[in-house]
Amino acid sequence: MKSTETSPSAQVLNTSQPEEFDLVILGGGTGSTIAAWTFAGEGKRVAVVERKYIGGSCPNIACLPSKNIIHSAKVASYFRRSEEFGITHDGFTIEMSGVGDRKRKMVVGLNEMYMENLPEDGRRVHFGNGPVPGSENGGSHPGRWDHTSTAGRECDR
Ligand SMILES: Cc1cc2nc3c(=O)[nH]c(=O)nc-3n(C[C@H](O)[C@H](O)[C@H](O)COP(=O)(O)OP(=O)(O)OC[C@H]3O[C@@H](n4cnc5c(N)ncnc54)[C@H](O)[C@@H]3O)c2cc1C
Repeated sequence: MKSTETSPSAQVLNTSQPEEFDLVILGGGTGSTIAAWTFAGEGKRVAVVERKYIGGSCPNIACLPSKNIIHSAKVASYFRRSEEFGITHDGFTIEMSGVGDRKRKMVVGLNEMYMENLPEDGRRVHFGNGPVPGSENGGSHPGRWDHTSTAGRECDR
C-alpha cells in the first residue's frame, strides 16, 4: 500500500497501516543516519527501524557517555593534584551518583536533539525490533520491503 505522501518526509511512524519504502534500514545509529540522508536526498523513501537507542550507540552508550565520565575523572584528578597548581583544599569526595546523573542528563539532551531534528533529515523512523534481513514481514512494522540495510550491530546498555 502506498503512503499518501509523495516525497520523503521525516517523522516517527506509529501507524499500523502498511507502507511502501525503497529502503528500510535496521538500526538508527550513525551508519543509518548517513545512509538515510544519502538515499532520502536522492528522492528515495527511506524508513529507519530502531528498537532502542535514538541516535544509536555513540550518543547513548558509547563515545559520548564514555567521554563524559572520563571528563569527571579528569576533574577529580586535577582536584587530587591541586597543590601542584598552587591550590589547597580540605579534601573532597566523589559521588558516583552525581557522575552518573551528569552523564544521563547529557544523553537525554542528545535524545531530545535527535528527535527535534527528525523532521529535517528526510527519514521516517519506526521504533521497534527490526526483521531478520531478507525475511518478509519478519518485524514489528507491517511493511513490505525489497531492500533491507543493516546499519550497525546489536547492542545493549
Ligand atoms: C565505549 C565506546 C567508545 C567509543 N568511542 C568512540 C569515539 O570516541 N569515536 C568514534 O568514532 N567511535 C567510538 N566508538 C565506536 C562507535 O560508537 C561506533 O563505531 C558507532 O556507534 C557505530 O555506529 P553504527 O551506526 O554502525 O551502529 P550503532 O550506533 O551501534 O547503531 C546500531 C543501532 O541498531 C539498533 N538495532 C540493532 N539491531 C536492531 C534490530 N534488529 N531492530 C531494530 N534496531 C536494531 C541498535 O539499537 C542501535 O541503535 C566507541 C564505542 C564504544 C563501545
